[in-house]
Amino acid sequence: MTQHDQLHRYLFENYAVRGELVTVSETLEQILEGHSYPQPVKNVLSELLVATSLLTATLKFDGDITVQLQGDGPMTLAVINGNNHQQLRGVARVQGDIPEDASLKTLVGNGYLVITITPAEGERYQGVVGLEGDTLAACLEDYFQRSEQLPTRLIIRTGESEGKPAAGGMLLQVMPAQNAQPEDFEHLAALTDTIKAEELFTLPANDVLWRLYHEEEVTLYDPQDVEFKCTCSRERCAEALRTLPDEEINSILAEEGEIDMHCDYCNSHYVFNAMNIAEIRHNASPADPQVH
Ligand SMILES: [Zn+2]
Repeated sequence: MTQHDQLHRYLFENYAVRGELVTVSETLEQILEGHSYPQPVKNVLSELLVATSLLTATLKFDGDITVQLQGDGPMTLAVINGNNHQQLRGVARVQGDIPEDASLKTLVGNGYLVITITPAEGERYQGVVGLEGDTLAACLEDYFQRSEQLPTRLIIRTGESEGKPAAGGMLLQVMPAQNAQPEDFEHLAALTDTIKAEELFTLPANDVLWRLYHEEEVTLYDPQDVEFKCTCSRERCAEALRTLPDEEINSILAEEGEIDMHCDYCNSHYVFNAMNIAEIRHNASPADPQVH
């Protein structure tokens, strides 16, 4: 049985080109469970999950990446967030009917792809690209071309493995500050593009690389585990409450008796009553004033 939910990095020894390979099953299931998304929305979330995993693996620092599709179509939002530890979560919002065979454009309507990179330390970066390509992979290649000027190829496959939803993908990228020949990159990308979903879902990474590039010298590095993990917490909710005006909080407490904060990503509820709110306010107030 193939080990899913792992990310592999590899390198072509004779070209300035690096690669990544990821497959997800358990992580995907956990993102989809507890929601009743139509199949086309599940497919988009699967693709976004693979894309975000591949993107976060390109980070050279601690941080996280959010890849988000938004538009005026029936799927108003689809978002996956992941960090350099390959901990990922995601959610979609749907309004109205979605045909079984809806394309990405039908789902999103007039919309765009927003990529937000948040380093643990330093400035947040946001890139926006219009949905000009027919696929998410094409839109992301466009993004890489514009933002990093690095030729990049993304291949994403979705489907099922052993009766469970599965998805996988590969990324090829020219290494920064090295001049790989465009024809070499195209050659490697064309080879990569021949990967079938079934091969990606059933073959060990080593065999996939052999199947695709048996004439090339490829180094495969130790894999990294990929997992579902939500970063929400009671503390983070309390922080968010602290930023709201007192009047707003008081009026919810007066009407509802408590404040119920719900996390869309993992369906957790965090409930705050009047006493909890008083504690939050007390902790937020400055410590004993110091006299100078
Ligand atoms: Zn959560």
